[in-house]
Amino acid sequence: MRFKVNEVFHSIQGEGLRAGRPCLFIRLTGCPLRCTYCDTEYAFYEGTFRELEDLLDEVRRRLGPPAHGPNAPFVELTGGEPLANPQAPALLKALLELGYEVALETAGSHDLAPVPRDVVKIVDRKTPGSGEVGRWLESNLDHMVPGQDELKFVLADEADYAWARAWCEERRVWDRFVVLFSPVWGKLDAAWLAEAIVADKLPVRFQVQLHKIVWGSETKGV
Ligand code: SF4
Repeated sequence: MRFKVNEVFHSIQGEGLRAGRPCLFIRLTGCPLRCTYCDTEYAFYEGTFRELEDLLDEVRRRLGPPAHGPNAPFVELTGGEPLANPQAPALLKALLELGYEVALETAGSHDLAPVPRDVVKIVDRKTPGSGEVGRWLESNLDHMVPGQDELKFVLADEADYAWARAWCEERRVWDRFVVLFSPVWGKLDAAWLAEAIVADKLPVRFQVQLHKIVWGSETKGV
């Protein structure tokens, strides 16, 4: 089994409940979406084919023996859209079997049913401002694990905020999952978003992309 890999890099998780934790990222090549604000267009086509065992060896070598606890390093499969590769669930299963905590970053456009339950799924619900709001499988909500998985909204403008708020209210997703609202970097004012969440008493978490603050918005592999 082999995978087209854009990059493997060891850095700090910049988003979500695991923000700040050391993380080994595996970025698979390819994405069928074209979000207006995409910051990983370089992952659409560039990459090298790697055998599964070769990838697992690199994970073991770079992370060391699996550690556990709230601050332990973990491994995240990202993209592109990793689930565009039908073999991605097998890779996730193999990573879990190594003993590491494993996370998956996905747009929610591909079926989550084959993804192992223990994989932490960080699901990016695309908004109208992304240009890809229609690329969403509603059934994916049934495959997310309450209390474990995260639902993320990257908001391009105030209209996106109103849309995301109504979408969450209708489904009460915030009763089941961690819900994250973040601004599109350099587009929606972060302070405006933070204040809107507080004023509207929304049960969601505000976040910004930590890695972009630390290394700048153009730096790859961080
Ligand atoms: S899903 Fe992610 S990688 Fe694909 S176009 Fe959108 S932002 Fe870029």
